[in-house]
Amino acid sequence: MKSITKKVLIFTLAIVTALSFTGCGKKDDSSSEKSAKKLVVATEPTFPPFDTTNKDGELDGFDMDLMKAIAKDQNLDIEFKSFEFDALIPALKAGNADIVAAGMNSNDGERKKQVDFSKTYCDAGLVVMVKKDSKIKSIKDFKSNMKVASQTGTSGGKLIEKLKKQGKIADAVSMKKFDACVLQLINGDVEAVIIDKPVGEAYLAKKPGKTKIVGKTMNAEAYAFAVKKGNKDLLEKLNKGFEAIKKSGEFDKLKKKWF
Ligand code: GLN
Repeated sequence: MKSITKKVLIFTLAIVTALSFTGCGKKDDSSSEKSAKKLVVATEPTFPPFDTTNKDGELDGFDMDLMKAIAKDQNLDIEFKSFEFDALIPALKAGNADIVAAGMNSNDGERKKQVDFSKTYCDAGLVVMVKKDSKIKSIKDFKSNMKVASQTGTSGGKLIEKLKKQGKIADAVSMKKFDACVLQLINGDVEAVIIDKPVGEAYLAKKPGKTKIVGKTMNAEAYAFAVKKGNKDLLEKLNKGFEAIKKSGEFDKLKKKWF
């Protein structure tokens, strides 16, 4: 082999080797990043039994168990993250979360414009919670001098704002956490709290004595998981996984566990 050809060959080999090394390096990085990237499931943990924290401070609840079962069925790697309720949809939109699992009502036109919802997994609706000795029997007894609390960004929060605008109550007290709403009620800072029926009932079952639920369920809500608008792939997986855990009986087991 002529020495010039040899030199060219060695040079080419060196370049190819160098390139393939950097190529490998980069490829490795990105693939390990990919396998390490878990889907972020966002929730708001003051909504038991759907969304809460356990003794060890971990996010826990019916929604979390449902998501774990669906993720197992669909081979999804997930992690849970806590947000305030009104930050959940913005987190999806900004790409800071992949799924919202937060007892979120999907019968909401405004939300439907912003995110896509899975099949619904629980029917609910809003109720009025008052102190045990209150004379309020339903929302019809609200008066223009009353203060009513609910959670910021929720359907209950929207309802009290509407009542305030209509002059039917004096003040719509918007709190970041459901616990804080109940505390306001017990302390006498507000006359009523608007809350989702299953959550209000679960609260009463745990802490009877100080509060009660009055009147009828005021609307029809249906909880579903939310994903970023257009994320068809993920939505399909959530729906498929949900169908599978319904068929296997896992869904019923979880309902029994939490309700
Ligand atoms: N169901 C209500 C809503 O979607 C409240 C949900 C919650 O507080 N986690 O607005």
